[in-house]
Amino acid sequence: MRGVSEDRARGVIGIDIGGTTTRLLGQSFPTDPDYAGELRSIAGALVGGPAREAVGVSVGARVRADGGGVAEAPNLRDYQGRALRDDLARIAGAPVRLAHDTVCGLLAEWRQGALRGQARCAYLTVSTGTGAAVLLRDRLVSIEFGHQILDGNARICLCGQVGCLETYTGGRQIEIRAKRAPEAISDPAFWEAVAEKLALGLVNLAQLTRVEVVAVGGGIALHRGELLDRVRAHVAARLRNLPLALVPAALSADAPLIGATLLPGIDEAMIVH
Ligand SMILES: [Zn+2]
Repeated sequence: MRGVSEDRARGVIGIDIGGTTTRLLGQSFPTDPDYAGELRSIAGALVGGPAREAVGVSVGARVRADGGGVAEAPNLRDYQGRALRDDLARIAGAPVRLAHDTVCGLLAEWRQGALRGQARCAYLTVSTGTGAAVLLRDRLVSIEFGHQILDGNARICLCGQVGCLETYTGGRQIEIRAKRAPEAISDPAFWEAVAEKLALGLVNLAQLTRVEVVAVGGGIALHRGELLDRVRAHVAARLRNLPLALVPAALSADAPLIGATLLPGIDEAMIVH
């Protein structure tokens, strides 16, 4: 957290607009699915805050290629097509940079956490959804990890596609199918199956990108400490001829907010939305 206070001293503020909770300046409130309502809440939270030179924003939704707003957000439909970056800049009175929460998590883990010193690495969040971002040669690339297709999977994903990995691993989809929250499921066979599917996705990721280290975070991964060991075993049984280390994310739930605070300080060309 030292980096965050240093950045605050320079007048950089981080905002984390998650699918359920928004966090900034030590405050948190439920993310408002109504776009105008969310802007009002953020404006209220900024009142009386420190002087602002720049604002970084982590958003739990796919960001448009130009970084100006949300491209697609099943949970935040009212945000689609809005000028989120410019609207927040007007409210904050400072330039704003937006990125997907996995890009922010990756940036935080790379600069301050489990991925320090790595050149080919990724950040994976196993939470309500299953998302990832990849770092290759100083480029932070947002990818659709949860929507890769697994052979033989006939399940329909919330995204509308058939066969997505996330139909097995996404917290929201687990809850819909099992009619229980993931935290309430203790059956080892269930989690073994989740681990196997995650491992398939990670082997694909290693083969497609040659990332060598993946930091794994997100609510489900944090809650089930043994899940990472299960995933490691399945990766080891599958992957040939490439190294792939899986490490726990070091910054836990703070990673997107810390990454948001770091966003304005990096070259914009480093982010591939
Ligand atoms: Zn999908």
